[in-house]
Amino acid sequence: MFPLSGGVNSAMIDFINVSKVYKDNGAKALNNVTLHIDKGEFVFVVGASGAGKSTFLKTIMREEVPTSGEVVIDGQNLNKMKARKVPYYRRKLGIVFQDFRLIPTKTVYENVAFAMHVIGASQKDISRRVAYALTLVGLSAKAKNYPNQLSGGEQQRVALARALVNDAEIIIADEPTGNIDPEMSKDIVDLLEQININKKNTIIMVTHEVDLIRHYNKRVVTIKNGSVVSDTAHPEVARAASPEAVVNTPSGYYYAPTEDAEIEDFLKSYGSEDGEEKGFKLDTSAFRGE
Ligand code: ADP
Repeated sequence: MFPLSGGVNSAMIDFINVSKVYKDNGAKALNNVTLHIDKGEFVFVVGASGAGKSTFLKTIMREEVPTSGEVVIDGQNLNKMKARKVPYYRRKLGIVFQDFRLIPTKTVYENVAFAMHVIGASQKDISRRVAYALTLVGLSAKAKNYPNQLSGGEQQRVALARALVNDAEIIIADEPTGNIDPEMSKDIVDLLEQININKKNTIIMVTHEVDLIRHYNKRVVTIKNGSVVSDTAHPEVARAASPEAVVNTPSGYYYAPTEDAEIEDFLKSYGSEDGEEKGFKLDTSAFRGE
């Protein structure tokens, strides 16, 4: 039997002997991973390129299913989940990507509202929640701006507001600071930390930046060749387990985020059963001063 949620330290994320082999090329991306993450934990995941971090996140997102072993999230066994249930399951998740993946043709407000639109939220809830999420990330004043009018750090805060707006129980942040100015990186992680403290949601953040894991006193899980090789609160132990996984933050690097044409489709996979668009008009009156 695998542990189900319940009890004092109820598991939010349980990996039990999880292995993943990609059929097309035989790559063994996860190798017998057993990991237990409690509700409300903030965990850094580190590992060199190709270590298996993305596959780990994708199995939580139910984009990949393990070849063997069990993935149990908040008591739900993802291996057994029917495909039509997946969009509902994903509503538990708020996802932040390295390249932000904002919709360039939508304003800040509309980008955040879109995540509520796809789950069929009411206009009233959308107005209220989007305003709240933008306040949380300190971007109310930029609600009418478009992504290309914002700095990288601001764009990532919009993505964070989008991840939060539906009250996600699990925030998955895949190198959220990898594409922004180093001095802004701590702002983003500070925000994640505040959200974790206030909302008690579970946060999984992949990073390569040794400065960050040193600065924040968190659990660090190191993945190497598909295996968990260290699980520690001590950053130097994590670093020793895979020195190539955590590096000094390169100073002053920045590259433009990709404009992902498929982001709308992706977000819809977090919505209703058939991902169908309902007649929808964003109520932005609060931000037009009407
Ligand atoms: P990381 O995120 O740490 O860079 P990944 O999970 O992306 O690691 O990759 C782990 C291994 O699985 C690598 O060998 C990679 O080439 C392989 N891999 C990842 N995704 C796929 C895929 N969709 N198909 C085939 N092989 C893959």
